Amino acid sequence: MTLAGFAHETRDLGGIAFLVLRDRKGLAQITLVKKLLGKDAFKMARSISRESVVQVKGTVKAEAKAPRGFEILPTEVKVLSAAEVPLPLDPTEKVECELDTRLDARFMDIRRPSVLAAFEIESGVLQSLRDYFYSHGMTEVFTPKIVAAATEGGTDLFPISYFEKEAFLNQSPQLYKQMLMSAGMDRVFEIGPIFRAEEHDTRRHLNEAISIDVEVSFADDRDVMELLEGTVSKAYSYVKENCDYQLQVLNLDLQVPKVPFRRITYTEALEMASERAGVTMQWGDDLDTETEKFLGETIGEHYFLTDWPSSIKPYYTLPYEDKPEVCRGFDLMHPRMELASGAQRVHDYNLLVKRIEEKGLEPEGFSFYLKAFRYGMPPHAGWGLGLSRLVMTMLKLENIRDAVIFPRDRRRLVP
Ligand code: ATP
Ligand code: MN
Repeated sequence: MTLAGFAHETRDLGGIAFLVLRDRKGLAQITLVKKLLGKDAFKMARSISRESVVQVKGTVKAEAKAPRGFEILPTEVKVLSAAEVPLPLDPTEKVECELDTRLDARFMDIRRPSVLAAFEIESGVLQSLRDYFYSHGMTEVFTPKIVAAATEGGTDLFPISYFEKEAFLNQSPQLYKQMLMSAGMDRVFEIGPIFRAEEHDTRRHLNEAISIDVEVSFADDRDVMELLEGTVSKAYSYVKENCDYQLQVLNLDLQVPKVPFRRITYTEALEMASERAGVTMQWGDDLDTETEKFLGETIGEHYFLTDWPSSIKPYYTLPYEDKPEVCRGFDLMHPRMELASGAQRVHDYNLLVKRIEEKGLEPEGFSFYLKAFRYGMPPHAGWGLGLSRLVMTMLKLENIRDAVIFPRDRRRLVP
């Protein structure tokens, strides 16, 4: 057989030497025998530097003492690309390493099996999402990332130079996916980047993130909450069934969350939290970190927070007709953090204009969006789910940077 990979380890015992090759599926022991290789090739092979890219040709033999029960006895060893010494970090994971060092040499960091495992699982999650969406009759779309206006007003936008015009990187596909409901596309999803110029420095925010966005016509908040919990539990079960090796590398026994997830209204959540000492949160405030943590610890599994105050949800969230101070917005929570936000949307043109004004924004700035509500707009609902947050909570990763290959934050623009 022919096998190629990275030189994970070399061990020299004199007349015999071992070379362990690594690829993304695991390790293989190459036993270098002088008689089989010849003197010169043997000498060369035993001095291969760690992490060089090596190709061997030879025979496979069962060997109980080898780590995986077999060894390869090569008659030919070729260095396809030699690695310099010293390495920027240790890919065998024997030596711990600072996050910044790891991110500076991300290509080598990803050679570490546990780092790679998370990204392979992320790819599995994406496959399961697409399968799930297609099986629900949805259409995959792409909306522009270069835009002229903010989704929700505000200052969290990255300006870019766009010929003689002012333009920005889009914060969210919200307005565009809603316009596609008026286009008669009925059920769309988009998996793409969102950009937020927030100056936060946390373990769950980045300035560029991948959002999984869904919008469905003739659906309400309850319908799309069902779709969302189905999406999340399907992602878990897909990974459990298809990513055995990676879960083993991460030493994880994945529990698939049971649906339906618990539903708690914002008001109920506040009442629960009021049992806790030192609550400062008032009805109408956004959930503070303490309350969020308390709820997570008390509930201990995924849950929905529903029926938020209209004042803290965006203008496109539909208020209840009989109690307009409350709206049909929801958040999907993991005990550790928010995973998704969604809502039944305002689909009535006049109400939408009124809501935009009530939020202190100028309807003129949204005319391209509002136009889509003037010629027949189906009632609709949808949500946006953060891919990296889904993966980091699934895999119990400490930092969102462990779930993003080349993260972008306030300090990091390279690599
Ligand atoms: P948070 O309150 O946690 O800052 P948000 O409410 O501002 O999030 P939304 O606008 O509701 O975020 O976006 C939908 C989802 O996209 C979030 O629930 C989250 O999973 C993900 N997301 C949003 N902003 C970021 C970010 N800066 N970094 C990583 N993921 C994000
Ligand atoms: Mn949110």
